[in-house]
Amino acid sequence: MSDPCTVDRLKERAGKEVLLRGWVRTTRRKGRIGFLVLRDGTGDVQCVAVRNEVGDELFDLLDFGKTIGAEVRFIEYMDVGGATRWSQERVFSKREMLAIIEDRAGAKATPIDLESWAPARRFRLPDGTTFGIIASTTEPFCRTCDRSRLTADGVFYSCLYAQKGLDLRAKLRTGASDEELEALLASSWRSREDRGAEIRLELAKRDALVEVDRLRKDPHLEMHTRGG
Ligand code: SF4
Repeated sequence: MSDPCTVDRLKERAGKEVLLRGWVRTTRRKGRIGFLVLRDGTGDVQCVAVRNEVGDELFDLLDFGKTIGAEVRFIEYMDVGGATRWSQERVFSKREMLAIIEDRAGAKATPIDLESWAPARRFRLPDGTTFGIIASTTEPFCRTCDRSRLTADGVFYSCLYAQKGLDLRAKLRTGASDEELEALLASSWRSREDRGAEIRLELAKRDALVEVDRLRKDPHLEMHTRGG
């Protein structure tokens, strides 16, 4: 197999002939010079895997990832706001996804990037294909979570499961200075004790987090409004 090289490492190949493969995202033109804007395999495509909606075609998606020059990451179905049809039975676990992929590949997937704090656990198949699984439901990673979210209308959330956020827009509209906003954000983050997914995992009985009526009253409870 050839030694793959991504655009950010092209300097290593200076003076050598390279075959550049990638997904053409767009083209640009400056005068008589044309540019191809490529994805070069350093990006990723994330998809939520729901049991009974997807089966062993998980494996075929890995090939799709290769055709667009991106690594595929499978996310376990989460019981967050907006997932009103969530049930434990519909969760395709990391363990099950891995078993399907290894079965179709006829080989074990080797864990890679073991030191990483990123949400995805990454694996490599013997043919060099890499993929990731984000086990947010069965193996939550709240302990290492450093993510916050800001909605388009200025509410700062410190967890995907948070029911309340800090309304920065209201503070701005009452004339809060940059320093005051910074202090507010810092104190909100320092006092953060979020472990939403871990708390959900401890529940004996688990259903969708928020019912439709509550979502209609407070759209901020929808995960997509907070960029989840
Ligand atoms: S549930 Fe909340 S604390 Fe846990 S990983 Fe997700 S955003 Fe972070």
